Amino acid sequence: MLHEISPGVFDNKYSHDHQFGDDDFLLCYRNNEILLKKSGEDFEIPRKRDFIESIESPVYLFSINSEHCFGLIESQVNHVSFEFHDLFILRNLNNKELAWIGSVGHQLMTWHRNNTYCGRCGSKTEMKKEERATVCPKCNLVIFPKISPAIIVAITCKNKILLAKGRHYKGDFYSLVAGYVDIGESIEETVVREVKEEVGLDIMNLRYYKSQPWPFSGSVMLGFIAEADDTQQLILEETEIKEAGWFERGNLPPHSSGVSISGDLIDAFDRGIF
Ligand SMILES: [Zn+2]
Repeated sequence: MLHEISPGVFDNKYSHDHQFGDDDFLLCYRNNEILLKKSGEDFEIPRKRDFIESIESPVYLFSINSEHCFGLIESQVNHVSFEFHDLFILRNLNNKELAWIGSVGHQLMTWHRNNTYCGRCGSKTEMKKEERATVCPKCNLVIFPKISPAIIVAITCKNKILLAKGRHYKGDFYSLVAGYVDIGESIEETVVREVKEEVGLDIMNLRYYKSQPWPFSGSVMLGFIAEADDTQQLILEETEIKEAGWFERGNLPPHSSGVSISGDLIDAFDRGIF
């Protein structure tokens, strides 16, 4: 999965006073695009030394293998020598560590950009020194990065798994039922509700699988396995689901790749792990 970069070590501990050094990475975004440097057939994240101009006030984000990564709130660099690419490219980078920091960097820089001003009184916010948060100097509102929990569930019936094509997916492939946890809901209640809403099934034997941070949507995906009787009628939520059906182990259609927990769950079912 995308975040599994071992033996690489991702260190998200916040520090206010790291100096921006020549070898440090600079993560620069423009909406849903990231600035990358071409390197042969692959891409790299540029370092400070790659830029001719001076970089004004980059924000320290995190470290990877003790190398520091900084971000820019706005695109303040002359990017003639590099190109912006859709974030989707990160899923296919050969260097998994760079793919991960490029993804998490986007989540953090989006948070920075969205919280430049206080949501309560409209004043310009400041970064806190002691922790990763912004604070409003006027009304003292403290804003931490928000992570939205979401569930994803592999529903099985004997040798079959229920796969669905979301209406909003970028590619033409099958995935699993998924959705955000709503206000006042336990995680287990979310799974039951989302499955009923999206495909009309009642599930049983719900159990936890594993989780995955998913920076592209600012969420943490909580993976589950459940069973359902395949004689129940599938009733699709048309606005969310384009297609859904039961597929037999060993004969699955094109589905999400192993960078996501969705692909991880589907492959685990295909290998007979559950
Ligand atoms: Zn305020």
